[in-house]
Amino acid sequence: MREVVGGQVVADVLRQANVRHVFEVPGEPITPILKACRAAGIECYTFRHEQAASMAAQALSYARKEVGVAVVPSGPGMINAVTGLYTAWANCWPMLLIGGNGSSNLRGLGDFQEAPQVEAAKPFTKWATVVDQCERIPYFIGTAIAKAVSGRPGPVYLDFPADIISDPVTDGEVTGLDVSSPEVAPRALGDPVLIENAMAKIARASRPLLILGKGAAWSDCADSARSFVESLQLPFLPSPMGKGVIPDDHPLCFGGARSYALRNADLIVLIGARLNWIFHFGRPPRFAPDVKLIQVDIEPAELGNSMKPDVGIVGDADAVLKQLLAQATGPLDTTHWIDCLSAERSKNGEQIRSMMESCDSPMNLYRLCFEINRTLDSGATVVVDGEATQAVSRSVLKQYLPRHRLDSGVSGCMGVAVPYAIGAQVARPDKQVVCLTGDYAFGWSAMDVDTAVRHALPIVFVVSNNNTINAGVDPAAGPSPSAHEAPPTGYHKIMQAFGGNGVLVADAAELRAALELAWKRREPTLLNVLVDARSERKQQPYPWLARRGRMY
Ligand code: ADP
Repeated sequence: MREVVGGQVVADVLRQANVRHVFEVPGEPITPILKACRAAGIECYTFRHEQAASMAAQALSYARKEVGVAVVPSGPGMINAVTGLYTAWANCWPMLLIGGNGSSNLRGLGDFQEAPQVEAAKPFTKWATVVDQCERIPYFIGTAIAKAVSGRPGPVYLDFPADIISDPVTDGEVTGLDVSSPEVAPRALGDPVLIENAMAKIARASRPLLILGKGAAWSDCADSARSFVESLQLPFLPSPMGKGVIPDDHPLCFGGARSYALRNADLIVLIGARLNWIFHFGRPPRFAPDVKLIQVDIEPAELGNSMKPDVGIVGDADAVLKQLLAQATGPLDTTHWIDCLSAERSKNGEQIRSMMESCDSPMNLYRLCFEINRTLDSGATVVVDGEATQAVSRSVLKQYLPRHRLDSGVSGCMGVAVPYAIGAQVARPDKQVVCLTGDYAFGWSAMDVDTAVRHALPIVFVVSNNNTINAGVDPAAGPSPSAHEAPPTGYHKIMQAFGGNGVLVADAAELRAALELAWKRREPTLLNVLVDARSERKQQPYPWLARRGRMY
């Protein structure tokens, strides 16, 4: 029997749970946890801001399908990380946040950085609680991880009073669960009667459309989804982060005819996606007023949220798709519908082609994304934030694998791209990770390019620099009040200051050369790309599609 401190027990349990990376900001009272993690061989990534550390942890969670862990100091440190809990909660991504707090025997007396942290975490977590006994640390961590990944995934928070971290305990007294993950994770099947009803409705539809969201991506249903659409000849489109479950270049992918497809479909099969603002709540004018809905979600309470489904199936996306596939009796009569969708996709493709090939200087956003796209491997992870940058990137940057696009998502939170890119690169060390961010969005997390440099993460950061807040200059309204006339900010110098490669890029030819060099060198690089301040996403046919602040 040995005597250890609580921090050591935390590291031992994380190791047993197969946690190999921790995202952290050092400070009190968490030092013993970080010291023990390092000694246990857990790689610790030290950030400049707790928000970024917690966002990097959730990006790793989503990219690797495991629970990313962030460890942050008490008081302001933990409160800074709450925005990260919010983005994970909004995206239904798991993560474990561990926060230090004041000593339990001084609670209420105003101990150093004592704060109501559990209360702050509660609205954005599946479980937030105080760890009140060293001996039960395995129970708390094991239960937290299980809650984070089960059912609808989401963040969890464990609050560690300073004394629980530092006080000694003999390891024989430590009790709890076996926290190692099961060899095969259980998957929930859909009710067979509802599967039959759903297939009957799909067979009767004239213009059916499958929508795949990040719940589908999380369930790793790439093979079953592809077999399903191919055997039924069922057109599909992905949500922004559902891109890649089936590759974007699949002939039945109609992301390029999105508005037309949504407006004209008579039956939507919605799998692992919510009818929230991203899909205009499933309502007209985005959708046909009498559209039918088959909804598949792991979360029972999601069924009927905003729109009552004709068939609502609770289950895991991959398991349900396999059940549906088993009932499929051959291709649907969708030839005419596919012809209409194809014509619309070609028309839209033509509209953006001229912008992608434009030689204007400074370049527009379509040309920027076009140049990035041509240098990416099919295994690249694309991380994006910024308002217009996200919207344009969605139509130009192609995705070929699930969980390889990360953006602001449901939260619309700016500043996610830098930390998400760091989490994604840690998750996929040998793969390309491009971080495309609007210049204003970059400001929220810019200091954490230092983290990429210190940990030698070969991310290529691309700052789309239109030198203004918002999407650019609105010709009708004139420059936004925040636009400034000063010369473009030298964001590349921030990277240079930390010892990474920072390059100012003025035109498309320079951009192509800089990207090619960056991928060859495999070193942290930031390209500060000058973009036309008038460059926006293409003209939207309806004002409600182009509402300010709404990206999709
Ligand atoms: P998107 O932004 O891609 O449209 P959302 O975040 O709005 O996606 O919705 C994802 C949905 O996927 C959530 O309602 C969540 O409950 C659901 N989900 C998560 N995991 C699974 C799974 N394994 N199978 C089915 N649905 C899932």
